[in-house]
Amino acid sequence: MSRVNDFFNINGKIIAITGGAGVLCSQMARSLGEAGAKIVILDLSDKAMKELSEELSQKNIEHITIKTNVLEKSDLIKAKEKILSTFGTIDVLINGAGGNKPEATTSNEKSFFDLPEDAVKWVFNLNFLGTFLASQVFGEYFAEKGEGDIINISSMNAFRPLTNIPAYSGAKAAVSNFTQWLAVHMNHNYSKKIRVNAIAPGFLLTNQNRFLLTNQDGSLTQRGHKILDHTPMGRFGNPEDLISTVIWLISNYSEFVNGVVVPIDGGFSAYSGV
Ligand code: NAD
Repeated sequence: MSRVNDFFNINGKIIAITGGAGVLCSQMARSLGEAGAKIVILDLSDKAMKELSEELSQKNIEHITIKTNVLEKSDLIKAKEKILSTFGTIDVLINGAGGNKPEATTSNEKSFFDLPEDAVKWVFNLNFLGTFLASQVFGEYFAEKGEGDIINISSMNAFRPLTNIPAYSGAKAAVSNFTQWLAVHMNHNYSKKIRVNAIAPGFLLTNQNRFLLTNQDGSLTQRGHKILDHTPMGRFGNPEDLISTVIWLISNYSEFVNGVVVPIDGGFSAYSGV
């Protein structure tokens, strides 16, 4: 196979995905699996992992599921050991566990001054600390191996904060910042073959934000309308829209790309609104 044909080849790669049973990352599991990767789902939800595992089995995608809390380093270490004993190596970590919650979101009923500390900590820890701890555990393995790819999941609100969601915006800005920091740190200290990049999905209609973008009857909220008006491509994204960029970032096609945060947003972040 010529080198250019081999660029996109992810066949046989061992890919661990935290939050892997969620909406976006389960699509990554399906699509990366269909492209020949072996998938490890690390998630808290037994039910979601069981359903996804059945689906992956039907598609003949080689995979394992490991119940893992990304906020417990001991869980992550056990997961890493289980992957190594099953597959012998790990090539990619996708830090997908993350999300927002209504309690950490301002609204007409809840002012900024009333946002409870525990909800803010929950959002910050899940998005930032969960990414940080998994990167410590799997990054140490990549440092020993001398190669590996980490993909973080940032968000539009990391470039400029969105209204209502101060904890989630701050946490995702920290994820983008950490992506750059870790990319440099791994190259300087461990290996020039370790890359750390992130994707920043635009507005996808998922469980995390459905309550902000749609009313109970399915019609768009004012916020939903504003987002579509501000998205030059004129639609919400789908989980499938993320896949080609993820494959690009974990394949040789992006071999000199390191420390970037790629928006996948239908042009949202490029548009000033005027
Ligand atoms: P989701 O809620 O569908 O999936 C998140 C998954 O993480 C769930 O399966 C959940 O069980 C798991 N999880 C939660 N806490 C965990 C923990 N402590 N340890 C391990 N697993 C845990 O969310 P999603 O919409 O698929 O989002 C995935 C990622 O993409 C998140 O980081 C989110 O912030 C980010 N993101 C989503 C959007 C969007 O529009 N949905 C946009 C930008 C970024």
